[in-house]
Amino acid sequence: VDHELDYPKSPAEMDWSLHYPQYFALPDTQPEGAQNTKKVEWADVGCGFGGLLMALAPMFPDTLMLGMEIRMSVTKYVTDRIAATRQVQSLLPSESTEKQQGGYQNVSVIRANSMKHMPNFFEKGQLSKIFFLFPDPHFKNRKHKARIITPGLLAEYAYILRPGGILYTVTDVKDLHEWMAYHLNNHPLFIPIPNEELEGDAILEAARTSTEEGKKVERNKGDKWVACFRRADNPE
Ligand code: SAM
Repeated sequence: VDHELDYPKSPAEMDWSLHYPQYFALPDTQPEGAQNTKKVEWADVGCGFGGLLMALAPMFPDTLMLGMEIRMSVTKYVTDRIAATRQVQSLLPSESTEKQQGGYQNVSVIRANSMKHMPNFFEKGQLSKIFFLFPDPHFKNRKHKARIITPGLLAEYAYILRPGGILYTVTDVKDLHEWMAYHLNNHPLFIPIPNEELEGDAILEAARTSTEEGKKVERNKGDKWVACFRRADNPE
């Protein structure tokens, strides 16, 4: 227990059935020998109010995605938002145009300190996408080690991201953009993806525009800085 944060000792001990009931049978209702093979593949770190997840869930109904958020009230808000949306979806007739594929069963949120406990939730190479959207800038120099991208944490992100997986960063703070890009560029397991390569990419578009912070920046006509990286193959 860490300031009342709940986290499993290891990914194998995590019970996902409450988060994705349609994908994970409860252990005691499972036929003997049956195994849940589905895994969370995308993580939105510091997801805030959940705008990215709600945008991506119906676009990729077969992919399990998870928001991680440290603030309790915000996590509760996203939990309720997902539950309400699932409820509405389940009541819609299947022929209705508002009925989204997947019914938002593939999205969930967890209260977690992602600077401490990512490897408790995800095993090596489990994730194929990890998002850092408009993270807190921590401007003062002495607070830089509080940033969500640091050399030490990059080793963890590289561990849980599979080779070929993509790490997305978007921010409206130029100094933070330069800091994140600098550390990612200098890490041997992250290869920069030229922005042109991702042009028109629906996922990056959602990452830039569908979070609450991203919308606020847009309203204020602020700049957005994007840097994406591919997880390199493991060295021989
Ligand atoms: N990504 C969202 C968006 O674009 O709207 C939220 C951006 S907000 C500026 C940063 C969020 O990261 C906050 O909701 C904050 O509580 C969360 N956060 C900060 N440190 C965190 C940590 N160590 N673990 C999980 N979430 C964290």
